[in-house]
Amino acid sequence: MIRIEKERIDEFIRTLMETRAVYAPALDGKNTMFAPVEDPAGIDHNIFNTDKSPKEIFFPHSEVLFEYEGEEIKKVERDVRPIVVWGLRGCDARSLRLLDKVFGSAWQKPGNDMFEDPYWKEKYDDAIIFGTACNEPRSTCFCNWFGSGPHDDAGMDVKVVDTEEAFILDPVSEKGKKFIGSLKGWAEATKKDLATIKAVREKAEGLMGEAFGMEGIAEKMADLFFKPVWDDIGAKCVNCGACAFICSTCHCFDVQDEGKKGKKGKRIRIWDTCMFPLFTKEASGHNPRDMSKDRLRQRFMHKFSYFISNYDEHLCTGCGRCVSVCPVNLDIRDVVRAVMTSEA
Ligand code: SF4
Ligand code: SF4
Repeated sequence: MIRIEKERIDEFIRTLMETRAVYAPALDGKNTMFAPVEDPAGIDHNIFNTDKSPKEIFFPHSEVLFEYEGEEIKKVERDVRPIVVWGLRGCDARSLRLLDKVFGSAWQKPGNDMFEDPYWKEKYDDAIIFGTACNEPRSTCFCNWFGSGPHDDAGMDVKVVDTEEAFILDPVSEKGKKFIGSLKGWAEATKKDLATIKAVREKAEGLMGEAFGMEGIAEKMADLFFKPVWDDIGAKCVNCGACAFICSTCHCFDVQDEGKKGKKGKRIRIWDTCMFPLFTKEASGHNPRDMSKDRLRQRFMHKFSYFISNYDEHLCTGCGRCVSVCPVNLDIRDVVRAVMTSEA
């Protein structure tokens, strides 16, 4: 473990910037998000979980895949520097790992010939994730429902703990160990630092609400597919899609061509969501998810049933963003509780 005194953190970030594009929490208007760092002095290390999720770094809201002219396909110029993400919270580090199962290599295994998305892989595979442990979780945080916690390091390469005096960097992945091992001129963490980390961790874990038991939710959801519980939940939702766009794990997208059809243009990937009626509307005009409640149920079935069948995990990390953003206060924790306590 190495120790970066607070007054030397800009120097450390500048070292990272020598070879990599560094992303860190920043204020964008009224919202916080991850942005490319131009000046380390501009990083606000006190920003908690950003309003916008960091999935945008690797899976942008709108991304030009390629340009075309007639039959010719042209590659788009990109920033090819490897990425460092600084200040990511544990729930978001786990979200990226979940998305890597969908887009990347994390779910490749014998007989599991999964598609790999080159646009995701070229950014994520070489990235180094510095995740900051949460010392003061918020009331909307529920990572502990999924076996995680405010000091969990899953999905991180280097875990960072803020001890007030210093940032303590603990390399947890092979990539993180290699990277931290290559750095020179930084002190080792002290015994006092280790004692502080233990104390802040215990305090943070004590601040989390009680975890709700998620065992059997996939089967329960499947059993309740046609039951009235969805009428009650769906009646509130206005299908604005905010929860899905803000979510660190939702990953539906559309592909569109912009330009003169068949002549010259660009192919663009844009976020989409199952909460929108057009997402499933067929050319005939028929929509298999015509009702608002059908679309809401789909989002929850995907998170707590289909994703478990396909990838063996819940598609939610308890980051709480959807709880904060929903205009009608539809709280995902209430939905889970309603489902789990309903009669099949
Ligand atoms: S569903 Fe809500 S709590 Fe879960 S990962 Fe998405 S935004 Fe976070
Ligand atoms: S943010 Fe709330 S109202 Fe909007 S789609 Fe999501 S659950 Fe429905």
